[in-house]
This record gives sequence, C-alpha cells and structure tokens, in this order.
Amino acid sequence: MKQISRRSFVQNFGLGIGATALLPSLVSFAPFAEQIPEKYNGKKLNIALCGLGRYATILAESFVDSNYCHLAGIITGTPAKAEKWKKQYAIPEKNIYNYDNFDSIIKNKDIDLVYIVLPNGMHKEYTIRAAKAGKHVIVEKPMAFTANDCQEMIDACDTAGVQLAVGYRLHYEPNHLEIKRLGQEKVFGAMRLIEVSLGYSLDGIPPTDWHLKKVLSGGGPLMNLGVYCVQASRYVLGEEPIAVTAQFGTKTNPELFTEVEESITWQLQFPGGATATSSSAYNCNIDRLYAAAENGFFELSPAVSYGPFRGRSSNGEFNFPIINQQAAQLDGIGKLILENKKLPNHISGEEGLKDMKVLEAIYKAANSGEKVMIT
Ligand code: NAD
Repeated sequence: MKQISRRSFVQNFGLGIGATALLPSLVSFAPFAEQIPEKYNGKKLNIALCGLGRYATILAESFVDSNYCHLAGIITGTPAKAEKWKKQYAIPEKNIYNYDNFDSIIKNKDIDLVYIVLPNGMHKEYTIRAAKAGKHVIVEKPMAFTANDCQEMIDACDTAGVQLAVGYRLHYEPNHLEIKRLGQEKVFGAMRLIEVSLGYSLDGIPPTDWHLKKVLSGGGPLMNLGVYCVQASRYVLGEEPIAVTAQFGTKTNPELFTEVEESITWQLQFPGGATATSSSAYNCNIDRLYAAAENGFFELSPAVSYGPFRGRSSNGEFNFPIINQQAAQLDGIGKLILENKKLPNHISGEEGLKDMKVLEAIYKAANSGEKVMIT
C-alpha cells in the first residue's frame, strides 16, 4: 500500500494548521450546486467573514458552490488582506471592517450574518459583539473554552433575537449522515464500541503559533480535533455520555508543548451501554472511526477531515457523492435563516455547549486521574 507523506496527509487533512497551505485544491469536490435539483434565485444570506486566516480562505472559496449564501463582507486587522480580499471577492468598501470599528456593523443592513473564524479564544467576544450588532452568527469550533462561556454566547444571541450556529460541517456530509443513521436506528443492533481518533503532526510549526498558546487555543488537540471525536460519538449513538476517564500522552516535544497537551486519550461511557474510545494528537497523523454493534460494524477512514471519505459497513462499501462540505454547511444554515426558521439543535449553539461540557470533563479526568461523571 502506498505510504502517505506527511505533506500530502496534511494537505488532504486540511484542518487548518501547520506550515503547509491547507487549501482544498487537492480534493476533487463535486460542485455542491450539482446536487441541488433547482438553482435558487431568491435573496441570498449576506455573510461577513471575521478573521481571514486559513480556514476563512477555504470558506471564501466555498461560496461559489453555495446557493443560499453570499460573501458580502470581511472583518480583518490587516489592511493588506482587506485590499486583497476586496479585489478577489468583489467586496464593497462599506462592508469591510477592522476589529476596532467592527461594532458599527450594526448600521449595515447589507450584512445578515457574521461568521467567526478567529482563534478559539476570541470566539466568545466576537459572537457577543456580533449578536449585539443584531447579526446572526456562525462560530467556528470549538465554540468557546467552557460550558459557561457557551451559555453566555447562547444567551447573548437569544437576547438579541439572532440565531447562533456552530461551524459543524460534518452534519451535512453524507457519510456522516449515514453513520448517524446506522447508529441511531440500531441497524446492526445495539451499539457496543466506538473508536474515533483524529490527529496530525505539528512538526515544524512555529512555537509562536496560537494553537500552542493556551489563552488563544484553550488547549491542545482535544480542543481543536478531539471535539470532532466527541461529536461523532454523540451523534452515532444519539446519546449524551455519562462518565469519562482520560489520560494525557507523554510529551515527545516538551519544548513546544509548554502550555497545551501534545496528545490525549479518553473513554466515554454512554447510558445505553456503549463505550467510545478516542485519542487526539499533535504528534502523529490519524483520522479514523470504527463502530462495532451487536450484529455488525461500520467505519470511515479518512473519517473527519475534508475527505474524500471512504466508508463501509457489514453490508458493503459506502458510495456517497463527494461534496463541498463547507458549501453544504453554509447552505444548510443559510436556507433556514432566510426562511426565518429556527436552526435545529444539532447545529445550534446548544450543540457546541453539549460538546464543551464533555471536553471540560475530559480535561478534568485527565488532570485528576479520576473517573468524572458528566451531568
Ligand atoms: P489561522 O491562524 O489561519 O487564522 C486566524 C485568523 O485570525 C488570522 O487571519 C489572524 O490574522 C486572525 N487573528 C486575529 N487576532 C489574532 C490573534 N490575536 N492571534 C492570532 N490570530 C489572530 O487559523 P484557522 O486555522 O483559520 O482557524 C480559525 C478558527 O477556525 C479556529 O477556531 C479553528 O478551530 C477553526 N477551524 C475550523 C475548521 C473546520 O473544519 N471547521 C478547520 C480549520 C479551522
């Protein structure tokens, strides 16, 4: 079997960090628009991207495949980026903000939603500021650092009468919809064991990168990657975990990982009797999910990256279309907001809050060495 190099792994993996440019150009996306029977010609949801880094660049490219959303504005602290994006995406000058004048977006009727793609430690402040400016919000994962912070963000959006979504792109991805169905409908009987892990090597990352700084990241791979593993375990089972044990891994590069963990492993117990075991790491590449039920199994590998995913079950290979995950997510959220419909809980701030409760319990268990009950 052909060995995958770190470079190609990271490029395909594309979760937004490391020195390699993480654009989805290597991935052959079928245009999402092709999967929608009729082209939508109504009003689009006007979105301003806040924070123009690697993932915002991927999102910006995805608007081409979005039927319901339009890249209408940007918020950036770098004037050169503002100039570049203005030309590249035909963004009107009046829809360009910096972090100081951002709050004046309240007066701009041409922006419906602010999509926050800043370092994790800035998610809470910018969500609340966007809500106060009367804008709907999509905030990237992890939603914040604590469940209390998530609750404050939800409350701020409720008070302002705007909707809050978390950028959970996999909720619209067909392989993930299938594993959710197979697990929740117990197609192979009661679920017993799930193994889902996500990691990639940060070899070569500058020590100054915000992912290594606790104040901006909130933690290491658990915050950035493990959140996907917790998510997948929860939506395959359709249950909330009741207890967790966890262990930090040995630091192989202690000079780099002075503030955040380098790797972590945890075990979640679910009320229906299933156990989910996961690791997330910044010192090796891993991206897989395996789920064992009473009478069969299903798996994805790759499982959580931008894909393309490969999956199979006891009944055979999966054969789902490759989609533009970001466009699918934008359209899933955009369509509902345009129709003035409430976002379902699994994509709203409530989902981010549920994940954060689990992440907090995992850290507590790893720090204490004790089993932690999740209430
Ligand atoms: P990035 O470092 O490439 O971009 C961060 C942006 O924030 C940059 O434009 C930077 O200039 C700006 N910024 C403003 N203030 C900053 C500060 N004090 N320190 C550092 N940067 C500052 O990061 P990214 O990979 O684009 O990640 C941004 C967010 O998107 C994170 O929350 C991350 O978890 C999330 N993300 C999500 C996915 C996904 O698949 N859903 C993938 C990658 C990243």
